[in-house]
This record gives sequence, C-alpha cells and structure tokens, in this order.
Amino acid sequence: MGDTVALLVAAGRGRRMSGTVPKQYRDLCGKPVLRRAIDAFTTHPAVAKVRVVIHPDDADDYTRATAGLDLPPPVTGGETRQDSVRLGLEALANDTPAQVLIHDGARPLVSPDTITRVIDALSDAPGAIPAIDVPDTLKRAQDGRIAETVPRDNIVRAQTPQGFRYVEIRDAHQRMTGRDMTDDAAVAEATGLHLALVAGEEDNMKITRDADLERAARILARRPSGIRVGSGFDVHRFGPGDCVRLGGIDISHTHGLAGHSDADVALHALTDALLGALADGDIGSHFPPTDPQWRDADSARFLAHAMDRLRARDGDLLHADLTLICEAPRIGPHRAAMQSRISAILDVDAGRVSIKATTTEALGFTGRREGIAAQATVTVELPIQ
Ligand code: MG
Repeated sequence: MGDTVALLVAAGRGRRMSGTVPKQYRDLCGKPVLRRAIDAFTTHPAVAKVRVVIHPDDADDYTRATAGLDLPPPVTGGETRQDSVRLGLEALANDTPAQVLIHDGARPLVSPDTITRVIDALSDAPGAIPAIDVPDTLKRAQDGRIAETVPRDNIVRAQTPQGFRYVEIRDAHQRMTGRDMTDDAAVAEATGLHLALVAGEEDNMKITRDADLERAARILARRPSGIRVGSGFDVHRFGPGDCVRLGGIDISHTHGLAGHSDADVALHALTDALLGALADGDIGSHFPPTDPQWRDADSARFLAHAMDRLRARDGDLLHADLTLICEAPRIGPHRAAMQSRISAILDVDAGRVSIKATTTEALGFTGRREGIAAQATVTVELPIQ
C-alpha cells in the first residue's frame, strides 16, 4: 500500500444552522469543528497528508481554524458537494496518492479506529465506507402522512471517511460530473465499483443542526481520559564557541554545544518526553537530522510541535520535570529564565515546569566536561481512544 491522503470537504454553507459562522467553523469545546476533523487525520499514523476543500468565502475562517498546522493550501470548492470533491481530487493529481480518504469536514468526532478500518479494507477492495445499522423502522412520509413502511433489511447509514483507490475515484468523479450525488460511494457505485462496508460509529456524527453541536460537546465531555508519563534523554557534546543554548535561553560559556540544530539538549529531552507520552515516534522521526532545513534550527520549534501533537489529541500537559546534567555552566542562576521560556513555548503555567540540575561528581563524560546530558519526564492527560 502506498501513501494515503485525506481530503476533507468543508465547502458547504450549512443552511440548517443558526448564526453567521458556517457549521464547520463553529466552536466545539475550544476548537473549530473542522480543526477537530483535520486533527483526527494529521495525528493518524497511516495518513501522509491532509488537504481541505473550502468555500471561497471562508478563507479567513480556514486560516484561523488551521493556525499552527503545516497544511498544503486549501482547494476552492464548487457549487455542489460532488463538484467540491472532484476539484479536491483533481488538486491531488501532482501527489497521485495510492489511496484517498474523503471525509466530511463537519464530522469532527471520527475515531482513529474508524480511519484504520477503512484503510485496512482498501487492501482488497477499490473502496470502503463506514456504515451503521438503522435500528428504527423506516417510513416514507407524504404530506404529513405515512405513505408506506420501507423494509429496513440490509439498509445501513453511510458515514465518512470513504476510502478509495485514488485514480479510480478521481476517474469516477470525472465521469459523473454534474449528477449531484450526496456521497462518494454513490459516485463510485455508479461506475460499477464494488465497495466494502466496515463498522462505523454512532459518535461519528455529522454536525448539521445546533442540537448536533450540543450533542457532540456532550460526547467529548464524557470521553474517559488517562494519565500517561513520557521520558526523554539527550546528550550534546561541547564544541567551539562561547555560548550554549540551553532550555531555550543563551548562556555564556567557555564552549558551545555541537549539533545539527541549535543543540538545545534540554528542549530535545523534553520534546522526546512529550512524543514518548503520545507514542508518536521521537524527535529524529519528526525532524530528521539528515534534513538540511533543520540545520541550526531553533529547538523551540521542535518542542512546540510536540505540544501541538498533544493538543491535537485533546491532551493536557500536567507537569514537565527536566534534569540537566553537567559540571558547567551553572544552571541555578538561569533556572527562572529557563522555566519562564519553556513554559512560554509550551503555553502552560510556569508552575507546571520544573528545572533541576546536577553534576556527576566529576565522573563520566559529563564529569570530564565533554558535554551536557538532559533527561525529562512529562505527565499528560489524554483521552482514551
Ligand atoms: Mg539532541
């Protein structure tokens, strides 16, 4: 299986809701609805890229909703949902991903398990959609009366993300242009593709009315969370220079620290501790030292990125505890500045950030003043998925 790209469709106007802000940009427990949907895919390990289709009037809302994210530019949608999806698929032509997940921007509570089930099903079907049973009896209504009872055998409700092999769904959309079908499975079926069904989830609801936002907020509020602890460790050797960057601040010293980035061993250990708590790789997998763009990089960026990953999963940093291990420079005089700088990078109260220092009694490489080591522990609260 090759790359999987998520295409989020957020070009609708949401005419069934009150207010002037389109539904996909309404706030849901501190984040726009669309941001929650985007975060579900950017934090999924099997999704390589996220692209969003937006309404041309929503550029400012989109910019606000995606602040801090490194996304390719949004695609401008068309008149209908089907047009918007086709334009989004055509905009992926340069990437030509192996498969694409098409998701409603107004479904903010999609779970990682649902995304995984759809992706897995694509290994032996050209398309797959999540669906749920219909427990209620269905009636066809006419002029306020029941015209007939609709047999519900084999009837399911279709959700998103709907996954497809990219080239096949793009071609299907191009062939079916102008038909105004309400989901992509319908487009695929019309061209003869046989799609798989995987289990959907009730909570993967589409925000259509004001009451849906309230229900989604209740679902988020009752999600259980757990405590996780992450640890990080890093070492950088001394090299030529007269200043070290440590804990985000510059400290005069007889040497500098050598490294690909600014060699801030303290922020590296903290970054790894956060990524460790998330089971989300390590600093090297997010910022490969072989990548020239991270040469001399400010390590605050690495730490802020790890914190963004935590927040994208609705996590909270309860506490960070950092220990610097060196004979020199002395850390004590800089402790308060470091604590203040690190808490600013993390955007948490300074009382959640602890800075400690120790020597190794002149033993080992730190004792021989060959470099500085740092270890960090973080405690986070994270919704259980
Ligand atoms: Mg390092």
